[in-house]
Amino acid sequence: MTATMKAAQKALNETALTMHQVQHAFDQHTVVKGVDLTVAPGEVVCLLGPSGCGKTTLLRIAAGLETLQEGSVSLQDEQIAAPGLRHVPPEKRNVGLAFQDSALFPHLSVMENVTFGLKHLSASARRERAEELLTQLGMANYASTYPHMLSGGQQQRVALARALAPEPRLMLLDEPFSSLDARLRDRIRDDTLHVLKKVGAATLLVTHDPEEAMFMADRIALMREGRIVQTGTPRELYCSPKDPFVVTFFGEVNEIEGVVEGGQVTTPVGWVPAEGIADGTRVQVMIRPEALRVIERDLPADTHSHSHIVMAKLLGRSSLLHLCAHADGGQEAHLHARVPGVFLPAEGQPIDIHLDLSQVFVFPRAAEEH
Ligand code: ATP
Repeated sequence: MTATMKAAQKALNETALTMHQVQHAFDQHTVVKGVDLTVAPGEVVCLLGPSGCGKTTLLRIAAGLETLQEGSVSLQDEQIAAPGLRHVPPEKRNVGLAFQDSALFPHLSVMENVTFGLKHLSASARRERAEELLTQLGMANYASTYPHMLSGGQQQRVALARALAPEPRLMLLDEPFSSLDARLRDRIRDDTLHVLKKVGAATLLVTHDPEEAMFMADRIALMREGRIVQTGTPRELYCSPKDPFVVTFFGEVNEIEGVVEGGQVTTPVGWVPAEGIADGTRVQVMIRPEALRVIERDLPADTHSHSHIVMAKLLGRSSLLHLCAHADGGQEAHLHARVPGVFLPAEGQPIDIHLDLSQVFVFPRAAEEH
């Protein structure tokens, strides 16, 4: 391999953050259990999971706000934490931090807050850098304003500009949008994503909101009870979930029990392949509401032996249909289907139901027990 090829390979292999076999306990209670996690340069990784699963603890370990107990943490190729050996303090890690309620210095103007970490630059370079970021975050007109004069959303934009200003090796964001109301949150999220991508900041973002993670992330690491259950692109987690927890974390699903026969499971909405699962295995069939395609049939509305609509509700961008599905063998199930736009068939309307198998998942029943 030539020197150029070696350099290219090294750049490819380089990670902004590497956490290896990280373990952490509070008073005998282990809350992070052997976590491996990487963030590549310029990549946005979302640490996603239910409340209390250890996301914030992991982020605080990366930041140096918690002392590492087991494992190792490296930024680029520099090891910054190893138990009993090394603990580079947070201010020396060159990481940018922003939290749910990022406290700005109340006695400093917006400009002074953003330039605070830029003491190594000349006054004009500091100002230029701050102005650039404030413009990107829509806050250019507030440079001389003080934090108490800003809304929560504006303060969060300034906090983000402050964290990004020193061009940190890594941005660590903990639920940075969760204190904002829904409409504001969507806008700030969008602006934040564009700024992170424009400046090429490697980012680890903690959230409990699957939609936020899918919106922001190049890769998602889904956590449960201190462990990472699955890491991958949003599409990999949504379309190729490893277990039932991953499926349900991304939204409501219809669940039907069954037994594999001839490599398939029979359900009231048809046969579902059960690849790689032995015949006779009891399984859980998980059907996302958008996997059910509903076709109205021109039959008398009281044909209740046929699959039919129980109820239809408009949710805004989509319609939720409560269905009663009938199989030929007399099997019956109450299912929810989600259809884009306004589609509100009458109660009792006979229907045919087709399955989009790409949004149907089959797991052996034992896979539920963790
Ligand atoms: P949330 O989204 O609710 O913040 P999380 O996934 O970020 O949850 P952590 O904040 O990392 O979870 O907490 C993981 C577990 O560790 C929880 O049971 C929490 O109560 C506990 N914990 C966190 N910090 C401490 C601490 N300083 N002392 C004792 N226990 C703690």
